[in-house]
Amino acid sequence: MSRNIKQLLAQMTLEEKASLCSGLNFWRTKPIERLGIPSIMMTDGPHGLRKQQGGSGDHLGIGDSVPSTCFPSGAGLAASWDRDLIEKVGIALGEECQAEDVAIILGPALNIKRSPLCGRNFEYFSEDPYLSAEMAASHIRGVQSQGIGTSAKHYAVNNQEHRRMTVDAVVDERTLREIYLAGFEGAVKQSQPWTVMSAYNKVNGEYASEHPYLLNDILREEWGFEGFVVSDWGAVNERVASLAAGLELEMPGNGGFGDNKIVEAVKKGQLSEEQLDLAVERYLTVIFKAVDSKKENASFNPADHHRLARTVAAECMVLLKNEEGILPLRKQGGIAVIGELAKKPRYQGGGSSHIVPTKLDIPYDEMAAIASDKAEINYSQGYELAKDELDDKLLEEAVRAAKNADVAVVFAGLPDRYESEGYDREHMRLPDNHNRLIEAVAEVQPNIVVVLSNGSPVELPWIGKVKGILEGYLGGQASGGAIADLLFGEANPSGKLAETFPIELRHNPSHLNFPGEGDQVEYREGLFVGYRHYEARGVKPLFAFGHGLSYTTFEYTDITVNKNSIVDNETVRVSVTVKNTGDQTGKEIVQLYVRDSQSSVTRPEKELKEFQKLKLEPREEKMVTFELDKRAFAYYNVSLRDWHVETGEFEILVGSSSTQIALKAIVHVTSTVSVKKKFTRNSTMGDLMSDPVGAQIMHAMRPNAGNQLPSTDDEHQAMMNAVMMGMPLRAMVAFSQGAFTEDTMDGILQQLNGSNDS
Ligand code: BGC
Repeated sequence: MSRNIKQLLAQMTLEEKASLCSGLNFWRTKPIERLGIPSIMMTDGPHGLRKQQGGSGDHLGIGDSVPSTCFPSGAGLAASWDRDLIEKVGIALGEECQAEDVAIILGPALNIKRSPLCGRNFEYFSEDPYLSAEMAASHIRGVQSQGIGTSAKHYAVNNQEHRRMTVDAVVDERTLREIYLAGFEGAVKQSQPWTVMSAYNKVNGEYASEHPYLLNDILREEWGFEGFVVSDWGAVNERVASLAAGLELEMPGNGGFGDNKIVEAVKKGQLSEEQLDLAVERYLTVIFKAVDSKKENASFNPADHHRLARTVAAECMVLLKNEEGILPLRKQGGIAVIGELAKKPRYQGGGSSHIVPTKLDIPYDEMAAIASDKAEINYSQGYELAKDELDDKLLEEAVRAAKNADVAVVFAGLPDRYESEGYDREHMRLPDNHNRLIEAVAEVQPNIVVVLSNGSPVELPWIGKVKGILEGYLGGQASGGAIADLLFGEANPSGKLAETFPIELRHNPSHLNFPGEGDQVEYREGLFVGYRHYEARGVKPLFAFGHGLSYTTFEYTDITVNKNSIVDNETVRVSVTVKNTGDQTGKEIVQLYVRDSQSSVTRPEKELKEFQKLKLEPREEKMVTFELDKRAFAYYNVSLRDWHVETGEFEILVGSSSTQIALKAIVHVTSTVSVKKKFTRNSTMGDLMSDPVGAQIMHAMRPNAGNQLPSTDDEHQAMMNAVMMGMPLRAMVAFSQGAFTEDTMDGILQQLNGSNDS
């Protein structure tokens, strides 16, 4: 139905317009009945639907909600590295929203994992902005294909829970653009979420909810965002300032005190009515889109979605270690299943994303259902999930069971209280009783597989004593089935880490600056987040970004580029061939990284720029082709206020993880943008020499300069040259004893700045 929103606006009173700038209650928007403006419902997200009944509710996941399919949380989904799969999850979420009359699902959550301690990492995708962008864009595409809106959150730089509503994240512009905004940028440009949710925290001194630079200049002007901005629940500081900055909807509803402030401000001339009109227009455009996309009598099949959740969960889990091919397990002999998590799985995180599942798979039951009659599966509790202390009796029983079995499968992980929205972890350890259980079992049983349930990396002090580790993440309601499928080889592991597992917490780059002091956290590690840090500083991680094993093996050959040399506004195509060299069907995630081999600015060793998940039958090979554009080679140039590529050589590195690079090609990129330099009397000889015109002038002057320098031998000459390169022009005047005068210097500067101006 087409509506003229401008006409509607013309019929609205000032008070009515302002009333639309905040919610009706916890989850609904305000209607204006006389004008036919409806109320729509929003709910959390992101990996399932948390629809609370009635007008009230909470943003902490406390009150009950209607049952919905619980898919793996963001940390797991990203480990699938599978755009199509995430889109399918999005479609399923969209179907459930249609069935429940929910118009917008509040997700995806795509903040960068700066520290493994962030309590909400389980909800976020990755430490890498490109992977985050691709996952978020696919999620949004899927949900919105069903006529349901999304909310890309939490914009921006919300990387910790500690003091999340007041902390000021201090981050330099280049890091902001390259690491913390790039995920949002990719998601907005590719998939246009209907809404973006502004974060609680401050960014460089201003609340994200009243940040004109973030909300208006970058999100709307640069990226072309067309939807409306909604506050995180309770994130508005000053309502008028936030509206002026570009935040259209304040949530939750608060009885309209923010609306009154807006009315007052317009009356006093502090806010123009045009600004309010623009906000209401943007807001109504989405509201009517939601109304027009509503499917009457929509329903979904919970059994189908549960099956999808099982397939998805299996794609998200990561086989971290598999010595002597201990996995897949043989469906015979004695299998000791140890650990309370095998019967009481932890499959989702705490807080606003906490949902009521339609069904729950129990790992132990699912294992028993798959194992044949020839296998004898025994369960022992091993520890009490609710406690951290060891229970001697439970430990003894577990050790006895392990000793009598052929293999022990120990379920360990983080209990709910360890990680949640609202607070951060203080360490990266598993509960003491889990660690000590594994150590004790290792005394009597050499064949141990550990299955982990956690939303963020943990330290694994016993790693050398176990043969297999399956990282299950928080795999959703069907994770029990997926774990069983993977353990017995009904499914072949194909997930890869979307984050680095450090050996210990202090190796993480944010360690000394997390979670900050008082209300300020400085992002002093800059660009060097996750693998960018571990590689640049040579810190060996426990498991690298992109790592993940399979029950089959893959071989990479034949890297080709369609051009060896491009200019920065052209694209280059890179192809590689990947072969399944084993005897099982499997999936490989082919990763492409780019390294700038000659750069005048600090850049990471390499950065992820493309990837593709490929399914290959035994002995099958496929060629995969990637197309790289300017952005794949660029860094954010703060003075240009733009992405910029420096002329030079770039390495294209393709492999199975950030540390397993199999193939390399070289591409030369020529910049089409000249970076204007302003030369002054304090420019150094080196500055001049790095400019083509400057170098020419200097070369022409060489004989003169040479006369001044006593040249004894080559080594001395080289030293003198190095010293000269750091010499400002004004010092040349002082030292040259009249050979290089102020006038000569002024002439050179005129020539240089003049030539640069042209
Ligand atoms: C969370 C958001 C969530 C909102 C509504 C907030 O506390 O940060 O992610 O969407 O509550 O529940």
